[in-house]
Amino acid sequence: MKIIMKIMITATLVAAVSCQNGDREKNGKESFNYSVDRFADIEVLRYQVTGFEELTLNQKQLLYHLSEAALMGRDILFDQNNRYNLAIRRGLELLYSTYEGDRNDEQFKGLETYLKRVWFSNGIHHHYSMDKFVPGFSREFFWEAVRGADPSKLPLREGQTVDQWLAEITPVIFDMDVMSKRVVQSGDEDLIVSSANNYYGEGVTQAEVDAFYAGMKDPNDDTPISYGLNSRLVKENGILKEIVWKVGGLYTEALENIVAELRKAVPFAENDAQRAVIEKLIEFNESGNLADFDEYAILWVKDLDSEVDFVNGFTETYGDPLGIKASWESVVNFKNNEATKRTAIISENAQWFEDNSPTDDKFKKDQVKGVSAKVITVAMLGGDCYPASPIGINLPNSDWIRAAHGSKSVTIENITEAYDKATQGSGFAPEFYWSDVERELVKKYGFLTGNLHTDLHECLGHGSGKILPGVDPDALKAYGSTIEEARADLFALYYLADDKMIELGLVNDKEAYKAEYYVYMMNGMMSQLVRVELGKNIEEAHMRNRQLIAMWAYEKGKADNVVEYRIRDGKTYVVVNDYEKLRDLFGQLLVEVQRIRSEGDYEAGRALVENYGVKVDQRLHAEVLERYAGLNLAPYKGFVNPVMKQVTDANGNVTDVVLDYNESYVDQMMRYSRDYSYLPTYN
Ligand code: ZN
Repeated sequence: MKIIMKIMITATLVAAVSCQNGDREKNGKESFNYSVDRFADIEVLRYQVTGFEELTLNQKQLLYHLSEAALMGRDILFDQNNRYNLAIRRGLELLYSTYEGDRNDEQFKGLETYLKRVWFSNGIHHHYSMDKFVPGFSREFFWEAVRGADPSKLPLREGQTVDQWLAEITPVIFDMDVMSKRVVQSGDEDLIVSSANNYYGEGVTQAEVDAFYAGMKDPNDDTPISYGLNSRLVKENGILKEIVWKVGGLYTEALENIVAELRKAVPFAENDAQRAVIEKLIEFNESGNLADFDEYAILWVKDLDSEVDFVNGFTETYGDPLGIKASWESVVNFKNNEATKRTAIISENAQWFEDNSPTDDKFKKDQVKGVSAKVITVAMLGGDCYPASPIGINLPNSDWIRAAHGSKSVTIENITEAYDKATQGSGFAPEFYWSDVERELVKKYGFLTGNLHTDLHECLGHGSGKILPGVDPDALKAYGSTIEEARADLFALYYLADDKMIELGLVNDKEAYKAEYYVYMMNGMMSQLVRVELGKNIEEAHMRNRQLIAMWAYEKGKADNVVEYRIRDGKTYVVVNDYEKLRDLFGQLLVEVQRIRSEGDYEAGRALVENYGVKVDQRLHAEVLERYAGLNLAPYKGFVNPVMKQVTDANGNVTDVVLDYNESYVDQMMRYSRDYSYLPTYN
């Protein structure tokens, strides 16, 4: 699997951390209402686009058109996640908006919650666990509601009756054995056949996919395209073939609109470099040619002077167990110049960090190229970044482009800030932290070291090290993403405790790193289990990585009692006894994980992940879930976008672009489904 770039939130579970940064207080954010909605295991927040008003009209118009384009790919992601997602979403939206029975009835409420979950996960599978949702309403209620709806508005197939549609859709919603998991990661099943995503046609097996793409790769090609990134692989008459996502190909209805909107953005480009990026992206959407995509990625990574920036397209591959096919996503943003001073210091010293890493010299980059890092303010999220948003992004994903041209790494601080504000006073720290010492430490330094962890992870961690010549970048297969995330996390953890942090002025207290160490260990050894159902193993790559690191350090440090579980009043706590030795252990594991990645040592990678990252202590898990339930918190969070509107004068000229934060979650989802839905139901 290729390098994984997006890190998910650890800060969700970091409670009650205060602001380190004086000017955060001055922005008058205390009056901003972060919480929007709450259902199932989800809390929906809103984020504030601080600094938007101060941008030039030109920049605002650029952001406007990029934001429109960001919303236009939503249906693509629904269809990629499962081939029935659009049918189910559209059917349920029809019922939701036209149902004339008792809307306070338990059955209707169950349908409403289910629909809210489908919107949140861009489909019928949980966005994190990948398990299919269990509906909180009955088949009988569903049938009755569907039969009472206007059949001309139901998403029927051509010539299909309502009863035929019900026969097709009902098992997909209600039968838990049908399409039960979107992405199956475990090593012993056919990952393609058992995964419910829509990246591969019916009857395509994992062995066939492996062979198909192995056959395309040329081992002597130093600049390989990202084979298979933008297509569905299907079998027709026994022959495998790619159906490419492009204008004139699959998903053309959405991509045509995206291209038209990108064209509107071009005149507002801030400079020639940015204009070239947008134009090349248009070209790629039209050609579907992955060599164009690489050219676009190179132009994008070199565009460093623009204030406004964006991602729009087929980018990350978490949704494919083999890491080949990319989901559609978009992030529209502009630079936070003040906070970027912090990441600028880190990227300017990238070579020092590489040279001084404990890893074997033969796995180091002689020359770290163009690691650019910035802190950004998001103005619009779309596709696979919405509503559940990353807090940091590092792109492009192509190994050779990263080596030859560098990468751009961002920390999304208005998102981390919203998480931070929303968890303050949640009761999490009093319940799970061992003592006031840890609570004070995290309160004092948690926000800063959490952001620094993200900076180091994205900007240096993923960008560090190299794969030895001749080693297949995908050699670690299903374990690749977990190992890659572990590598980036370990790099960050190791350096957070380094004197260099003080020397560079990034922290002013030698003890500050302990805040992140404590939170990381407590999370990995215990509290992240709130996101896993009792009886299940850990599946998601970032969670596996965090448990892998924490449990490995716990096991290896046992002899010296570096970290321990302690029981008080029948409750389990994590206590770190020796932070310096813990740092040493992180360094040792970094050495091994870098070796595994550089040499493509599949067996060692598999053993690490399976031994430390997957299995869950059932007793502890039950305890954590019970304590967490008592806090009445949502383990997952996501965001609504602001409503972005153009203001025009009497002659129709745009005079301003304004943001409105008052839209509810349901209203936003219904509006997006009405205004930005281009695809046929069945693709
Ligand atoms: Zn990462």
